[in-house]
Amino acid sequence: MQTPAGKNLRVLSLGVLASTLASCVADDAELDPLDQVSTASAPVTSTCTPRTESHSDPNTGQSWTTVWTCGNQAGAAMYLGANNSTVVSHMDSPSSWFVCYRRGEMHAGGNNVWYYSQGDRAAAGWSGRQAWGYMPAVNVFTTTDPSPGIPQCHPDMWQSKLSISDPNTGKSWSTVWTGTNIGGTPLYKDTNTSTPIGYIDSTTSWFTCYARGATVSGFDVWYYTQGDRTISGWEGRHAWGFMPAVKMATRNDPYDSVPACAFGSSGGGGGGGGTICASPTAPSLFPVRGVHKTGVFDDAASNNPSLWSCENNNSRSDFDPPDHIGIDILAAEGTPVVASVAGTIRQAEPSSYSGNQVAVVDACGWTHYSIHLQRLATGITTGVHVNANTIIGYVGHTGTASNGVTHLHHSIYPGLPANNDRYDEGISPYPLVAAVEHNVCD
Ligand SMILES: [Zn+2]
Repeated sequence: MQTPAGKNLRVLSLGVLASTLASCVADDAELDPLDQVSTASAPVTSTCTPRTESHSDPNTGQSWTTVWTCGNQAGAAMYLGANNSTVVSHMDSPSSWFVCYRRGEMHAGGNNVWYYSQGDRAAAGWSGRQAWGYMPAVNVFTTTDPSPGIPQCHPDMWQSKLSISDPNTGKSWSTVWTGTNIGGTPLYKDTNTSTPIGYIDSTTSWFTCYARGATVSGFDVWYYTQGDRTISGWEGRHAWGFMPAVKMATRNDPYDSVPACAFGSSGGGGGGGGTICASPTAPSLFPVRGVHKTGVFDDAASNNPSLWSCENNNSRSDFDPPDHIGIDILAAEGTPVVASVAGTIRQAEPSSYSGNQVAVVDACGWTHYSIHLQRLATGITTGVHVNANTIIGYVGHTGTASNGVTHLHHSIYPGLPANNDRYDEGISPYPLVAAVEHNVCD
């Protein structure tokens, strides 16, 4: 459905061109009647003709004061995007105005140019768009695409359905915003250019949310997405990062309904260093689920399981940096070890020194580290998101550092395993885990 203004103007343009158009289309659909003056010795060109005319598009919120009139295939379909997927309207007139062009999918005309206009009638179910859509250049009678002078459409982002999870922030999305960006653009861990972690090679990409940060070429908006490849050393992030809005083709930033990132301006702890909270997420559960005794190795009674309990009544700390950065929890071989916080598994593999080890990185970028495990629980692998109380393994005595004593060694330190190991900055886990060391056998 057209606005009255649009309809009148299209009738006017049709009237002006009607007589020449009919014969032209019959002779050669690729020629524009306005350029029939070309001589035989010069190549025949067909271009769209500009004129002053105002149109507003409720779909993009944009207005134009210049349009380009072109001959076109009468009845041509018009599409939601610059691709053949969704017909939203039809253009019945054989000559029509267009406001801009966009590059998209290749079409039968042998190029990827699509022209934007308001059609004459909406397709069923699409009346809300007021017939605005893209026409493939194959149906617009020009010898050059884009026709000289017609501007590129201000690019938009469009909503798409995509279920995606980010192990770095623990966030999931079911809707993303797709748009056009400069290919080969670095992605950054946070909303500044200090830590590049990967690249986005595609020129059409989806984004989940935005955050504000450092100003880059006049823009302080950053869009968050998963890139196409990682920078060496940042594999653990799976290429999730921020792109500065200057690399993104949008008419405004943040674009319309793109939501603010719930995790703020830092892309979480995964895969490397960067912004880390001053203190860890406090454990909500004790890491061992069963009778135990915490922080005591050096007396015979400690090794008497009949003295172990489900409470903290016999517990004390053996945190003693730099010699012992963590605490030891005596418990029977095979006692379940649980994640004490929600987070992402960042290490789940054996080492000769620590034995079977699992690192859970919390939303603050701190590692909660459990080692000497008898074995890992099923499904515990790098990148998996766990909730507090997820069983991650079982108490054992693996690794030379266990000295053959069955126990869990548990550490809490800032940063991540492997890529940016700040183990030596570990804090005493004792006050944190002792605070939740009640009824741990339930
Ligand atoms: Zn220890």
